[in-house]
Amino acid sequence: MQQNVWTILKILNWTKQYFSRKGVENPRLDAELLLCAVLHCERIRLYTDFDKPLEPSELARYREYVARRAAREPVAYILGKKGFLQYEFKVTKDTLVPRPETELLVEHILAACADRPSCRILDLGCGSGAIVVSLLAGLPQAEGIGVDISEGAAAVARENAAKMGVADRCRILVSDLFEALPQEMRFDIIVSNPPYIPTGDLAGLQAEVRMEPAGALDGGKDGLAFYRRILQQGPDRLESDGLFAFEIGIGQAHAVTQLCRRAGYTSVKVCRDYGHIERMVFAAKEGTYYGNKIMEFKEE
Ligand code: GLN
Repeated sequence: MQQNVWTILKILNWTKQYFSRKGVENPRLDAELLLCAVLHCERIRLYTDFDKPLEPSELARYREYVARRAAREPVAYILGKKGFLQYEFKVTKDTLVPRPETELLVEHILAACADRPSCRILDLGCGSGAIVVSLLAGLPQAEGIGVDISEGAAAVARENAAKMGVADRCRILVSDLFEALPQEMRFDIIVSNPPYIPTGDLAGLQAEVRMEPAGALDGGKDGLAFYRRILQQGPDRLESDGLFAFEIGIGQAHAVTQLCRRAGYTSVKVCRDYGHIERMVFAAKEGTYYGNKIMEFKEE
C-alpha cells in the first residue's frame, strides 16, 4: 500500500494524536464521530472498513471538521445535532448543547406525570427545545410552551418540535421568562434549566463550553439570578397544585431549595445526576398530586 494513502485506520490514528495534543477530552471517539458524519456510516463500519482509503472529497470535508474540533468547537455544533434520550435534536451556536444530566430531569418529570398525562407544561429558556419537546413526545396528551429570549434558539426549538411531531401541541415564543405570556395563562408544570454558572466562573470553563452562548450559561453573580426571578414571578403562573422542576449547578441545591420553600412550596426534593452531584430540584405544595409524586423519587 502506498505510504501517502489515507485509509480509515491511518487517519483515525493520526487524528487521535492530533486531538490529544489539542486537549480534546475524547480524541478517538470524536475522530470516529466526525469521520462517520463524513462517510455517512455507523461507527461499526469504520472497523469493518479499516483499510478503505478516503476519497479526495471525503478527505477535504474531514479535514475541515478536524480543524474545527481542534479549535475546540463541540462535536454537536460541527454535526449540527445532538442525541438526547431517544431523539436527535438540531443544535446550532444559538443553543446550548443538551446534556445527559438534562435527560434525567426529563425522565423524572415523565415519572411525575405517570398518573396525570394530560398536563400543561412551560419550559423557561428552552434553547433547542430538548426538554419541552421530549416531554411532549413522551406525553401525547400534554401541551406545552417553550420560551427563550434568543430568537435564534426559538427558531431551532420550533424546528425540533416539528421534527419530533409535536408542533401542534408545542408553542415556542421569544420571551424573557414570563414576559410575553398572556397574564391569565397557567401551567401544571414549570420546568427550567436556566443559566446557572456564576459570572466569575465563565472564563474558567472548558474551551468547548465557552463556545456555547454566554446567555445560556451566565446565571449572574452567584449563579442563582434566574431561580430568584422564576420563583418570584412563577407562583402566579403555576396552578396551585402544580410542579416546579429545575436543573441546578454544583453547590446550588441548598439555596434553590430555600427559594422554593420561601415561595410556599413545602414539598421539595433534590436528586443527583450520574456523577453523584445534586442536579435537580423539584418543588410543589405538600399533599398535592405532584408533592406526593416527587417524594417517591430516589435521591440518585
Ligand atoms: N450544564 C451546563 C454546564 O455546566 C450549564 C448549563 C446551564 O447553565 N444551565 O456546562
